[in-house]
Amino acid sequence: MIRCGLIWSMLFVLATTAVAQETGWKAGFSRVVITPEKPMWMSGYGGRTHAAEGKVHDLYARAAALQDAGGKPVVMVSLDLVGVPKVMAERVSAAAKAKHKLERADLMFCCSHTHCGPALDQTLTHMLDMKDEDWQQVMANQKWLDARVTEAIDTAMADLKPARVATGVGNCGFASNRRPPIGTGPIDHEVPVLRVLSADGSKVRGVIFGYACHNTVLGFYQWCGDYAGFAQLYLEERHPGATALFFSGCGADQNPLPRRKVELAEQYGRMLALSVDKVLATEMSPVSGAVSTRFREIPLEFSAIPTREELAKTAESTDRYQRTRAKLFLKDVDAGKPLSPTYPYPVQVWKLGNVNWVALGGEVVVDYSLRLKRELGQGQTWVTGYANDVMAYIPSERVLVEGGYEGDSSMIVYMQPSKWKAGLEDQIVATVKELTKP
Ligand SMILES: [Zn+2]
Repeated sequence: MIRCGLIWSMLFVLATTAVAQETGWKAGFSRVVITPEKPMWMSGYGGRTHAAEGKVHDLYARAAALQDAGGKPVVMVSLDLVGVPKVMAERVSAAAKAKHKLERADLMFCCSHTHCGPALDQTLTHMLDMKDEDWQQVMANQKWLDARVTEAIDTAMADLKPARVATGVGNCGFASNRRPPIGTGPIDHEVPVLRVLSADGSKVRGVIFGYACHNTVLGFYQWCGDYAGFAQLYLEERHPGATALFFSGCGADQNPLPRRKVELAEQYGRMLALSVDKVLATEMSPVSGAVSTRFREIPLEFSAIPTREELAKTAESTDRYQRTRAKLFLKDVDAGKPLSPTYPYPVQVWKLGNVNWVALGGEVVVDYSLRLKRELGQGQTWVTGYANDVMAYIPSERVLVEGGYEGDSSMIVYMQPSKWKAGLEDQIVATVKELTKP
C-alpha cells in the first residue's frame, strides 16, 4: 500500500512537473493586513471631522508575483486604499529593486479607491481638516504602510511556484455614469479576469480582476474595503487558500447607485465576485510566452499657473479648499520653488499573453477604456486606472470641455494649480500605443 501510494505521488509529481514545464509560468501570492493599528483620519471625503471609529472588516495589501518561462518576474500590488501615493510607489520600488532586481516597469501598484481607508502621504491629504498631531500620525502610518507593502512583495516573490495562468472577461452591471443627467453617459461593465491555477490545474491559487466604478458605496467612520473589499473577501472564501486582487478600471465618472448602506456594498461585492466566478469556470485563454513591461512618465500640462498675486488673494478666500491650496503654493513660491507647468504622469503597459494590460495614473474617466479597447482590440485590452500615482482626475477631452467636478473643480482638492490643458487624451493614448509596440 505504502509503495503504491509512493508510486502514485511520484506520478503526480511527474505529471505536475510536465504541466509546469509545458506552461513554464510561476506565480506567488501574499496578503497582509494594513488596517491602521490606532484610530486615525480617513481619506476620500473632505467633510469628515474626526478619526475612524472601528471597522467593518480589515483592509489589505495583496501582491501577485508572476514569472514567465524565461524567468522574468512582475508583481502586481492591490491596495485597499483611496490612492497610491507617488512617494510610496517610489520608496517601495527602490526596495523591490534592491531585493529582487525588479525594475519600475515590472511593478504595478493598484488601489481600490475605497473612501474608508486611512489618510495617505501626499494623496488628497490636504483636503482634510487635520491638526498637527493628526498629520504626524498620517506620516508615521505611511512609513508603516510602505513597510507592509514591501513585505507583501517579498512574500509573493518567495511564494513563486509552477502555475497555470489564463485570462478572460466577464460582465457586471451595477456601475452608473454619475455625470448629469445621471445614468445616461457612457459605461464600461466589463470585468477583466486573470486566473492562476496550481500546476496540476486542481486549485485556484489566485485571481486578479477589475471593474470601472467608484468604490464609494460607503463614506462613514468605519474602516472598510467597500464593494471591492467585499468582492475580494468573498472570492477568497469561495476558493480557500486563494488570494483575490482587485484593480479599479476607468471608473472616475461612475458610481455604484444606490449607495450608502453596508448591505449595498456587500451586495455589489457579491455581484462582482459572482461575475468573476462565472469567468473562472469557463474556458479561459492560457497565458504563455514572455511577459513584457513598459513604464513611462509623460509631462501633462496644466492650463494655467497662478501668479503670486493671484495666490496671495486666494489665500484669503472663505473656501477652505481654495485657501489651503493657495497657502501651500505660496509657501513653495516664496521658498524659491516655482510651480511646475506640468505633472509627470505615469503610463504603464504589460503584455501578458494576448492581453495588453494598460495601467494609467489618476482617476481616469470611462472614455479612456472605451477608446483604448476600440483602438487596441476588444477583449485583448485591459485598462486599469488609479495606478502607480493618484494625483488628480484624468478627464477625456469631452469631459474637460464639459467641465464640472471630473473636468475641472476636483483639481482644487487634489491641490493641483489648474485644470489640465486640452490635448491630454491624445497625448495619453499616443503614449499607450507607443508602449504596446513590440
Ligand atoms: Zn474618486
